[in-house]
Amino acid sequence: MILSTRCAGCSRRGPVLCRTCRFALVARPMIDAPAGVVVASAFTGRVRDVLLGFKYQNRRAVAAHVAGILVQRLSAAGALDEGPDVVTWAPTSASRRRQRGFDQAELIARAVAARLDLPCRRLLEREGASGVQTGRGRRARVDPSTRPRFRAHPRTRGRILVIDDVVTTGATLESAGRTLLGAGAISVVKAAVAATPGSLQPARRVA
Ligand SMILES: [Zn+2]
Repeated sequence: MILSTRCAGCSRRGPVLCRTCRFALVARPMIDAPAGVVVASAFTGRVRDVLLGFKYQNRRAVAAHVAGILVQRLSAAGALDEGPDVVTWAPTSASRRRQRGFDQAELIARAVAARLDLPCRRLLEREGASGVQTGRGRRARVDPSTRPRFRAHPRTRGRILVIDDVVTTGATLESAGRTLLGAGAISVVKAAVAATPGSLQPARRVA
């Protein structure tokens, strides 16, 4: 193991998430999360730094931490009381995936599934011209009219936990959940690591 890691949140030398950043992740309860979505944290301050830093370094280790926090929140919300049977994620657009080289939501979903000892399956594909999520700036991303559409895998069934990394309006998870139910899921729990504060007012820009 390489020991000279840096914190994904603040770049301090040491563990992949230092104590301060870990504390920030658990200590920011989300008050105005999008309806129907279990959210672990508000996408502000250090939480935002951690999730942005996540893109570039120590990905799997950070995913494991973040997954632990999300599982705690799901458990506290009673969302794990009945199932789920399988974990999946709302896939990012192909262009964004190409840009980053991985899908952050997938990494978190896989880490959540590992924690819950459940299978993690790719059940959703983005449909059509989903480039709306990339290259058009922040305003395009928070605009609910850019709601992505998904196509579900034919083997979709059972009680499904669908994960996203950061939600704004919740439109992506809403669309993902509806698609899964339409394809044969018994129930769907929607969860995200963080939500943009004020996301219920789409006109408001993210500071
Ligand atoms: Zn830190």
